[in-house]
Amino acid sequence: MISGTNSIGNKASKQGKKTFKTFDPKQNKDTEWTFYEASSSEIDEAVALATEAFNMYKDCSGEKKAEFLEAIADEIEALGEELIDTYCKESGLPQGRAMGERGRTMGQLRAFAKVLKEGSWVEAVIEKAQPNREPMPKSDIRKMLFPLGPVVVFGASNFPLAFSTAGGDTASALAAGCPVIVKSHPMHAGTGELVSSAIIKAAEKTGMPNGVFSNLNSSGIEVGQQLVKHPKVKGVGFTGSIKGGTSLYKLANERDEPIPVFAEMGSINPVVVLPSALENDSDAWATKYASSITLGAGQFCTNPGLVLAVKGEKLDGFIKTLSEEILKLEPTCMLHPNIYAKYNEGKKELSAQSGVTITADYKKDTNANTAKPSILKVSGADFLANTKLHTEVFGPFSVVVICGDTAEMENILNHLEGQLTGTILGSEEDLENNSGVVDALQSRVGRILFNGVPTGVEVNSSMVHGGPFPATTDPRFTSVGTSAIKRWVRPVSFQDWPNKLLPLALQNENPLKITRLVEGEYTKN
Ligand code: NAP
Repeated sequence: MISGTNSIGNKASKQGKKTFKTFDPKQNKDTEWTFYEASSSEIDEAVALATEAFNMYKDCSGEKKAEFLEAIADEIEALGEELIDTYCKESGLPQGRAMGERGRTMGQLRAFAKVLKEGSWVEAVIEKAQPNREPMPKSDIRKMLFPLGPVVVFGASNFPLAFSTAGGDTASALAAGCPVIVKSHPMHAGTGELVSSAIIKAAEKTGMPNGVFSNLNSSGIEVGQQLVKHPKVKGVGFTGSIKGGTSLYKLANERDEPIPVFAEMGSINPVVVLPSALENDSDAWATKYASSITLGAGQFCTNPGLVLAVKGEKLDGFIKTLSEEILKLEPTCMLHPNIYAKYNEGKKELSAQSGVTITADYKKDTNANTAKPSILKVSGADFLANTKLHTEVFGPFSVVVICGDTAEMENILNHLEGQLTGTILGSEEDLENNSGVVDALQSRVGRILFNGVPTGVEVNSSMVHGGPFPATTDPRFTSVGTSAIKRWVRPVSFQDWPNKLLPLALQNENPLKITRLVEGEYTKN
């Protein structure tokens, strides 16, 4: 049952005066639920509770934290139909997507549980003492990773489960040993409340301290800002717009004690089509890309919003097929009227830029909030001269850039802002013959793909979902996959510390039986 309350630890709370509703974009009307915006005192209470919880939670064993994460996954599953129905109602996304995303969310939680049980993620490093070393004795120094403290997670609009309340940011922070306060996304606050109830139940069942998780509602930026400015908050996870992510990043850096903000923001995910792809597989790639561009109404951070290729008849054929194929696909409902309005604004603005030709524009009538796909084309020179054309239009939209030659393509890639992904279509020979283009693309992205589509992000230990600014605020990390845990920790060295008082991960006997770097060698001994 959705009550619209905030969760301050295990307490339901509705002190705030302001309320808001979520919206059903398919029905084009408000949902039946009313949510209470978190008040200042509720924010303070949630942070104080998280700070207190941290004292115990930071010392929880990997086994105990794994039990907690697994219990969250089980409790999410136990929410059953109500979760799926609420998700669909608040997002306009289909049931299949809701079930897939729920599976992914549970899978992420269980993957982190596995990492915790194995234990080596703490990166224990041991350098033993050499008391007789000349000219100076060497101390015993041992290092490992420790959690930062309470962190704030902002749920994303486009993944109500996998990048929201119990999504990758929350799962990785809880795995690291950090209590989490979620600033719930106002477009799917009901879905968020249900998932929060699952997390709180799991915390109670597995004996976690009250305050290890809180969920705060809001439909404006003040609650998020207050949380980021709160002196007891030690880190922030965010997925959303460049405007939102950069303003939180600035806010966090203006604090007396600046804190890290891991924001995953905009990306147009360039796709480079090299000669053999145009020569041999042009129609097949154009058809595949029409599907990728329109997948989920184009509301994916890895949506291919930019295609680069060298001018010629073959490219003309590719653009023609892509434009025809995209208009054959049934347009789908977007997440919210605001996102729909922003899509139309962005599309209109880019279509009106100098040198741009619209090659596909869906004209038929559609239901409310349904995104009409569009493809534009522009010359390399016009694209290079006008950075407006580099902006993300969040929806089923892509710009094809017609380059004069591969030197111009390389120059464009070198001038492109940071991206989550970059894709190359072609042959292995193309890769070898165009190393400049490949290097330029690799320098701009977190993940480089060969002969594929960027939509679809595998959750595993080798995934990088990140990239240079403005794809993220910190290109050294990923927000997807088990390495995401590394965002919420800091290293601490122990010098000449008594063995029995060291953390278990650093004790001589290696009681946790984890892999450690001892005197430069990885070993379990
Ligand atoms: P958003 O507008 O950036 O909002 C994300 C969350 O951050 C919301 O909870 C929002 O709070 C909060 N927020 C935004 N600006 C803030 C600020 N200055 N201070 C404090 N909190 C702030 O993103 P969205 O709602 O997910 O989608 C809006 C647009 O973002 C989309 O149209 C799209 O262009 C882009 N987007 C991009 C990606 C991507 O991965 N590339 C993913 C999702 C969205 P309130 O809503 O309560 O104000």
